[in-house]
Amino acid sequence: MTARKILFLILDGVSDRPCAILQGKTPLQYARTPVLDALAETGICGIMDPVATGVRPGSDTSHLALLGYNPEKYYTGRGPLEAEGCGIHMEKGMIGFRANFATMDANGVITDRRAGRIRDTTALCTAVRERVDLSDFGVSFQFRPGAGHRAALAFRGEGLGAGVSSNDPKKEGVPMPRIRPVTDDPRAAKTAEAANAFIAQALPILADHAINRERVRTDLPPANCILLRGSGEMGHFPPFPEKYGISGVVISAATLITGIGKAVGLEHISVAGANGSTSSNLEGKIAAALGELEHRDFVLVNIKGADEAGHDGDARAKAAFIERLDRALEPLADIDSTLLLVCADHSTPCDIRDHSADPVPVLIRGEGVRVDHVRAFDEISCATGGLHRITGPSLMPILLDLINKTHKYGA
Ligand code: ZN
Ligand code: ZN
Repeated sequence: MTARKILFLILDGVSDRPCAILQGKTPLQYARTPVLDALAETGICGIMDPVATGVRPGSDTSHLALLGYNPEKYYTGRGPLEAEGCGIHMEKGMIGFRANFATMDANGVITDRRAGRIRDTTALCTAVRERVDLSDFGVSFQFRPGAGHRAALAFRGEGLGAGVSSNDPKKEGVPMPRIRPVTDDPRAAKTAEAANAFIAQALPILADHAINRERVRTDLPPANCILLRGSGEMGHFPPFPEKYGISGVVISAATLITGIGKAVGLEHISVAGANGSTSSNLEGKIAAALGELEHRDFVLVNIKGADEAGHDGDARAKAAFIERLDRALEPLADIDSTLLLVCADHSTPCDIRDHSADPVPVLIRGEGVRVDHVRAFDEISCATGGLHRITGPSLMPILLDLINKTHKYGA
């Protein structure tokens, strides 16, 4: 018997380094994870360099590599993928940006790059969309909310170029820089002008908005300015069903991952209560995945919370989230005719509060898999497993071979 379907489960940034506060263990080692450990015990494990050895990946370049789309060839920036993930259909010539709602003080200094991790910016986005006017630049735009403080912006107009800088100062306590062209291309200059006008026009609209007045009144940081980054045009991706002969869906609350899934031809399935954070509806996502597997060949699930805790530098929160995640994975213990992949897209060590190039643990379980001796799902145990050390771009070929969907090379 061989499995026929693939459940591709990415535990975003779950991989880590030893944490002093966890007695020198990684959060995955420290957390009690009976479900993941049982999956490891009945599968084959290894470690993986998501893009290549020594490369420190973003979630976007990593997911592209894991799905078999070489990021060096296909990656055109985060913005267009975020925009697609927020429900903006990116057509040729459009420029997409990732946007953050942030807090600026009266002196123009950014005091919180995430506006206190505001939960819902739908009404703020609507106000900006209705009142900002870029017609002087010959530009129309779409501006839509993502999860939490995140949003996406896309410009449409003649002669726009993607080569512009960001107005995100990348740290707090400094003024917001202007967006500038980073090439001599006049099209980039036009995009920079329109982007600066968008940001400037949004400031009074946001400052006056009832949501922000209420946030100020209750001592919460107002979401009173917009930071743009990752400008780019959408790349052209060979559709997943044509490339691999299987159809599939993406289940993710992170708009970047949703956008990648949609860009490569996976259908997005939304799940109520999934918010890309440590409070996400994990059980709902797993239930949705199992439901989709009844009539799909491939289901990509991204679970983001561990990455967030890593960026916050909170090893205890990361371990606690991993324990909750482990309980939510219980229904995966006995799925039939499905090949289960569990891995991270990169390490997000709490000590560095960002992604690192450390390889990530990977486990594959299902009919036909050679079961090795690994009995725990963590960075150290998996390093002794039967998959040894693989790279992200080899993952899809390995999985497709295990479901007998590869072509023989040679006679
Ligand atoms: Zn990630
Ligand atoms: Zn991250």
